[in-house]
Amino acid sequence: MMETFWSPRDVFLALVFIGITIGLLVKKPQSANDKEVVKTYFNTVGFDRWKRIYGNDTVNSVQADIRQGHQQTIDQVLNWLHQDGNLAQTTVCDVGCGVGSLSLPLAQAGAKVSASDISSKMVEQAQSQAPDANNPQFQVADLESVTGKYDVVVCLDVLIHYPLEDAQRMIRHLASLSTDRLILSFAPKTLFYDLLKKIGSLFPGASKATRAYLHPEKEIRQILQAEGFQIDREGMNKTRFYFSRLLGASRQSAGKD
Ligand code: SAH
Repeated sequence: MMETFWSPRDVFLALVFIGITIGLLVKKPQSANDKEVVKTYFNTVGFDRWKRIYGNDTVNSVQADIRQGHQQTIDQVLNWLHQDGNLAQTTVCDVGCGVGSLSLPLAQAGAKVSASDISSKMVEQAQSQAPDANNPQFQVADLESVTGKYDVVVCLDVLIHYPLEDAQRMIRHLASLSTDRLILSFAPKTLFYDLLKKIGSLFPGASKATRAYLHPEKEIRQILQAEGFQIDREGMNKTRFYFSRLLGASRQSAGKD
C-alpha cells in the first residue's frame, strides 16, 4: 500500500488556497462614514497620489496606465459635449472635479462651468491651474449639497468611493440639478472585476487606499430611468489597471424645453 505525505510545498499551496478562499468569502464591514474617510483621503495621501496621476510629471508604470485610462474617459466626455454643439451656451456642473481634468478644458472651450469637490486640496489645485479666475467657478462641497440648475451635470470616477445605496442617492440628487443631460461613470460590478478586486485587496498596501465599490449597471440604469433620463450614450474605458463605465443620459420629462 502506498502512503501519501504532504510535502512542505503542498502544505504551503493549501494554506494559500484556504487564505484566498476565506478572503473572498469574508466581507469587510462597511464603513459607516464613507464620506469622512473619502474626504480625508483626498485631502492627504489621496491628493498626492491622484494629483500625480492626473498631472504630467513622470509616474510609475501602474500610475501611467491609470492616467491613460482616465484620459480616455475625459476625452470621451469632451467629445460628447462637443458633438452636442454650442458649448459656449452650456452650463456644466462638474461634481468631484478633482484637479480639474474635465472642468478646465471645458471652460477653455467656452462652457460656463461650476466645479466642486469635497476635498479643499483638490479645489485649490484645480483653481491654481485655471487661467480665468471666474470660469470654472470652484466650490468646496459634498456633491449632495450642490444646488442650482445646469444644462449638463457630470460626475466622473467618484461613485466608486461609495456603496450602492449612497451612490443611488447621489445620482438622484445629481438628476435634480440637471435640466438636460447627466453623464456619470462608475466601476461596473462584473464577476471578473469583482474577483480581481477581491484578490487585489488581499495584497499588502491595498488598505492604504479607500474602499473601491463596484456597482451593478442594471441598478444604475434603473435610477437614471426612474429620474426621467434616457441613456443615449455609452462608453467603457479600460486599461490594465483602470476600468470605468461611462453613461450619458438625456432628460425625457419635465425640465427639458
Ligand atoms: N472627476 C475627476 C476626479 C476623480 S477622483 C476626474 O475624473 O478627473 C474623485 C474625486 O471625487 C476626488 O477629487 C474626491 O475628492 C471627489 N469626491 C469624493 N467624494 C465626493 C463627494 N461626496 N462630493 C464631492 N466630491 C467628492
